[in-house]
Amino acid sequence: PLNCGIVGLPNVGKSTIFSALTSAPAESANYPFCTIDPNVGIVNVPDPRLQSIAEHIPTEKIIPAVVEFVDIAGLVKGASKGEGLGNKFLSHIREVGVIVHVVRCFENPDIVHVDNRIDPAGDIETINIELALADLETVEKRLVRIEKDSRASKEAAKKASALAPILEQCKALLQEGRPARALELDDEQEELLRDLHLITRKKMLYVCNVDEASIGTENEYVATVRSIAQAEGAGVVVLSGQIEKEIAALEDPEERQAFLEDAGLTESGLSSLIHEGYRLLGLRTYFTAGPKEVRAWTFHEGDKAPQAAGVIHTDFEKGFIRAETYSFDDLVAYKSEQKVREAGKLRQEGKEYLVKDGDIMHFKFNL
Ligand code: GDP
Repeated sequence: PLNCGIVGLPNVGKSTIFSALTSAPAESANYPFCTIDPNVGIVNVPDPRLQSIAEHIPTEKIIPAVVEFVDIAGLVKGASKGEGLGNKFLSHIREVGVIVHVVRCFENPDIVHVDNRIDPAGDIETINIELALADLETVEKRLVRIEKDSRASKEAAKKASALAPILEQCKALLQEGRPARALELDDEQEELLRDLHLITRKKMLYVCNVDEASIGTENEYVATVRSIAQAEGAGVVVLSGQIEKEIAALEDPEERQAFLEDAGLTESGLSSLIHEGYRLLGLRTYFTAGPKEVRAWTFHEGDKAPQAAGVIHTDFEKGFIRAETYSFDDLVAYKSEQKVREAGKLRQEGKEYLVKDGDIMHFKFNL
């Protein structure tokens, strides 16, 4: 699943952040697969390299990559009345690739916190314990099932004996309220665990929602979140939902830039959130560039050239011959494709080529 799901306690700023993310939705003509669901946002991935490429390769239009964010709280509003996170919430969260956990790190007397205090460590614990309990249930059920299955056939017994010790280790962690993410597994073990869709093995990104005054400084709440994230192997992004919403509402890019500079920022917090989510999903970008369009395409880290070509069209993958490839850095250094070619920097890459982030590619294929 290639999306980021936004979670967090009530009143921490989830909807503010989601509405800032989706205020400039990706042009849907380019992404006909988009369904119209108010809780799902197809978000452009900001990438200044696109503008740089277009400076050297004049073009009619620029098309950025996109990534999907889901407002999970919005999906379950009303569905999970009362305490606890509810089954519906949990089933949605099982489907996402990365969990974006918004934590309230701002003070504002007008906005009541659920427990009447600002306490990032306590808030994080509240959510993480719910998630750990959900996984614990999954793991315990599976342990019972494989025990039963292992009596049915030799093959099932063999699989059970490989899986059981991993499940026991997960169980021990989860019982302490710790994420199963803390368990280091090799690829084979990871594969055994895969169909359990454990929530706490998904990558997590904490978003510290700070007040306007704390932008560019590290308030004590942020420091707390950072130390928790580090211990859990999670990422951290600091932003102010309020400011991001105001920036996103500005139509003029120059005005937006000026606003950022006034706030003491080089990149909007929202951009960092989008980049970090994209990266944690294992997504990378290559480009195609020509007079009609300069475009960013998304591939998975580790993809070879034919698979990356398949992102554009399945025929490109099936009929792949080779890819003329050079790097974005070479284009910047030599300033035109012709000069890149003359400098011997344009490579002919075959089926085994591992595509790199920032590659500019022309695919040759048979139909
Ligand atoms: P949700 O329940 O997590 O979706 O939270 P909301 O996005 O609805 O935000 C709850 C309240 O906090 C709203 O009144 C927001 O205006 C306010 N809020 C959200 N982000 C910020 C922020 O960065 N700074 C301040 N001061 N208030 C914020």
